[in-house]
Amino acid sequence: MLEKKILQDLSYTQLSSLVESLGEKKFRAEQLYTGLMQGKPISKINVPKQLKDRLLSEYVDEPVKIIKTFKSTDGTEKYLFGLYDGNVIEGVLMKYKYGNTQCVSTQVGCRMGCKFCASTLGGLVRNLTSGEILSQVLVVNALHGGSTQKREVTNLVLMGSGEPLDNYDETLKFLQNVTAPQGINISARNISLSTCGIVPKIYQLADAEIPVNLTISLHQTTDEGRARTMPIAKKYTISEILKACEYYFEKTGRRYIFEYSLISGENCDAEHAEGLIKLLSGRPCHVNLIRLNEVKERSLKSTTQKQAYTFLGLLERGGLSATLRRQIGSDIGGACGQLRASYLDDNNQE
Ligand code: SAH
Repeated sequence: MLEKKILQDLSYTQLSSLVESLGEKKFRAEQLYTGLMQGKPISKINVPKQLKDRLLSEYVDEPVKIIKTFKSTDGTEKYLFGLYDGNVIEGVLMKYKYGNTQCVSTQVGCRMGCKFCASTLGGLVRNLTSGEILSQVLVVNALHGGSTQKREVTNLVLMGSGEPLDNYDETLKFLQNVTAPQGINISARNISLSTCGIVPKIYQLADAEIPVNLTISLHQTTDEGRARTMPIAKKYTISEILKACEYYFEKTGRRYIFEYSLISGENCDAEHAEGLIKLLSGRPCHVNLIRLNEVKERSLKSTTQKQAYTFLGLLERGGLSATLRRQIGSDIGGACGQLRASYLDDNNQE
C-alpha cells in the first residue's frame, strides 16, 4: 500500500489548511497550488526549501510521469504514464478544431471483464486516487505549454483504462477538483464519463451536482446479447440502465450518449439497428458508433467501414441521432489498454 500520500488529492481548501498547520503563511498555499496546477513536481515548485522538504517527507514528489509519448500521423498523441509504485497507465490526447480532448484512466487495469477490451485482460491492479487522475491532465497540459489561464487540454473523456464508477469516490473527488475555479477549471460540460452501466452509481452521480456528460457503453440491444460480451449485464439490465439515464437527464438536463462498438457477427445487423431504434426512440440521447479496435488477445472482429456506414444509415432513417466516430490514432494502438498491455508484454519478455 501507499507509503507516501498524493498532494494533488487535496482541494485548494485542504491544501491551505495543510500549509497553515505547518506554520507557513497563507500565500505559500497559493504558490504551492499554482505550481501543482502547472503540473510541476513538488521539488520544482518555487516555495522555500524547508517547506518542500517537509512535504516531500510525506508526499510523492511526482505522482504521474510521462514515460513515453507516441505520436500518430493524424496528430493524436498517446502517453505511457509511470506511477510512483511502478505501475503504468495510458492516456491519449486527440486534437480537434474546437480544442484538445484528453482520455484519462481511472484504474490500473479493470475488473469488468468486457470481452472486447484490452484494459481488463490482467484484471484490476488498483484504483487510482483522485490526484493521480488529475495529474494525468496536469502533466499533459504542461507538456503542451498550457497553464490554468490558457488550457491546452480543453475537454476530457473518462474512457481510458478502468471503470470510473467502480472507483466512484476518487472519480467524484477528481471531478470536483478538475472543475474547481481555482484550479485547471475544466467545465463539467466538457467532460464525459463513460460507464459500462453500474446503475446505483449513475443515480449517485446524478445527485452529485457535477453535470458531466454521461456515456453508457451499450454495445448490444438485449440483455442476453449484452451478457455475452459484458459480464456487468448479468447484474443490471438495459431497462434499469435506461431508467437511470432518464433520472440523470432530469437532474442535469444533459442528454446522454450510448457508445456502440461494432463487432462483426455480434451486434451490427439490421435486427440490431431495429432493436436500438426501439430502445432509444424519443429519448434525449445520441449514439456513438465506433468500429471495434481489434485486440490481439481477443478473437472478436471489427466490421468494414462500409458495413458501419450501412448500420449508421439504418439508425438515422429510424430517427436516431447517431454518428460514426472517426478512428484516430490507430497506428499507435488506438483501443484503450492496448498500449499498456503491449508495454507489460514487452517487459515480461525481457
Ligand atoms: N469502463 C468504461 C470506460 C472505459 S472504456 C466503460 O466501459 O465505458 C471506453 C470505451 O471504449 C467504452 O465504450 C468501451 O466499451 C470501449 N472499448 C473498449 N475496448 C474497445 C475496443 N477494443 N474497440 C472499441 N471500443 C472499445
